[in-house]
Amino acid sequence: MARYTGPVCKLCRREGMKLYLKGTRCYDDNKCAFKQRPYPPGQHGHRRVKLTDYGIRLREKQKLKRHYGLLEKQFKNLFYKAERMKGVTGVNFLILLERRLDNVVYRASFASSRRQARQLVNHAHFLVNGRKVNIPSFLVSVGDVITVREKSKNIQPIQEAISLGREVPSWLEVDYDKLECKVISMPTREHITLPVNEQYIVELYSK
Ligand code: SF4
Repeated sequence: MARYTGPVCKLCRREGMKLYLKGTRCYDDNKCAFKQRPYPPGQHGHRRVKLTDYGIRLREKQKLKRHYGLLEKQFKNLFYKAERMKGVTGVNFLILLERRLDNVVYRASFASSRRQARQLVNHAHFLVNGRKVNIPSFLVSVGDVITVREKSKNIQPIQEAISLGREVPSWLEVDYDKLECKVISMPTREHITLPVNEQYIVELYSK
């Protein structure tokens, strides 16, 4: 599947916040490019530019898309799925993004970035309810159990990610002895910690 392969720290600098795209490095302020240079990349990065209404909405969409590491087509397809669901489209969209298997692997601290989580899922290091699943866009449901495969339990990226001791959201229950994560409830809007105005994204795509 297509993925963004360019420099990721530039994306944080462009969005004006840490998006945690680079794994362990993101947790060390001395190594974080955004902490060192907290202004947009490029020759005119220091200039203050007043955004138009469209620009504000575009930036909000780009921020969310980059946070979850998706390309436009995958992102938009998930948005359309959210639109077809009952309830508030913006909130449904955020919840669908959270339910992706690569995100769950990241949230459970089995990977130090979503990008790494996606690669680990692609390489079939996880089981869902005992069956091999190597599709990062797989959507988890309540009761699903995500397990690190026996042969993968000691691999460095997973062990390194666990050692960061990141907080796990309350909709997941993780057993680090068994390297197992259970989905105990659906994520809600309150679980999405990224400061984002989802309504702006709905407005952008509804034009
Ligand atoms: Fe963003 Fe991480 Fe790079 Fe910092 S180190 S700018 S948080 S990707």
